[in-house]
Amino acid sequence: MRKKIVAGNWKMNKNLAETKTLLSELKTKLKASSEAEIIVAPTFTNLYSATEVLKPSGITVAAQNMHEAENGAYTGEISADMLKSIGVETVILGHSERRAYFGETDQLLAKKVNTALQHEMTIIFCFGEELQDRKSDNHFSVVEQQLKNGLFHINKADWKNVVLAYEPVWAIGTGETASPEQAQEMHAFIRKTIANAFDQEIADEVSILYGGSVKPNNAQEIFAKMDVDGGLIGGASLDAENFTAIVNAI
Ligand code: PEP
Repeated sequence: MRKKIVAGNWKMNKNLAETKTLLSELKTKLKASSEAEIIVAPTFTNLYSATEVLKPSGITVAAQNMHEAENGAYTGEISADMLKSIGVETVILGHSERRAYFGETDQLLAKKVNTALQHEMTIIFCFGEELQDRKSDNHFSVVEQQLKNGLFHINKADWKNVVLAYEPVWAIGTGETASPEQAQEMHAFIRKTIANAFDQEIADEVSILYGGSVKPNNAQEIFAKMDVDGGLIGGASLDAENFTAIVNAI
């Protein structure tokens, strides 16, 4: 049975003290009450502290990005080995902000995917269409291309290390959410696309998260949809009460 997951992407928010405070609050509030696997992705500088603070809690820490090279002259970058050396086994790749502001292409993401898999990391692979794609009815083909270009070169065995996050760009940080029906329609399409390219078992087993303005007041109806296996949460993951309410909506 595929896993339910709620992951919080903190983006460039929370200094060290604020990170520790939020994590302590989450540890108290989330105490093994949830059916879902819970992941938080603080900023790079606070990842090590996060792994330390969360050690006995069962909440997992993820990085928001990483470089595709093993090491070398890449000023300002972070490698898979560095993440693993501090106990971080999960990485978010392909977030729309990385694609839009840092020029990350499908081709670059394919390389990052390979590096993460070589290091046996779990990947939360993000993708999703822009507003004009949806308006022009191209959203299915855009999503299919993102998956094919960035991810579909992997082996069947690698899928156990992949979580998908469908995040329509027009819904991220805008307060506008895809309707539960729109989310379900796209998630079902994603599963069918994987079944066609790989096999039905892989398609049935992979967790597909929805991301885009998920809040305590809309999480339940989105998570109730058959092919939605949880959420990738931005803004609402920065507040312990809101994030806990979303986790409990699973
Ligand atoms: C995100 O950044 O992945 C996200 C879904 O953000 P928000 O929940 O704020 O829309």
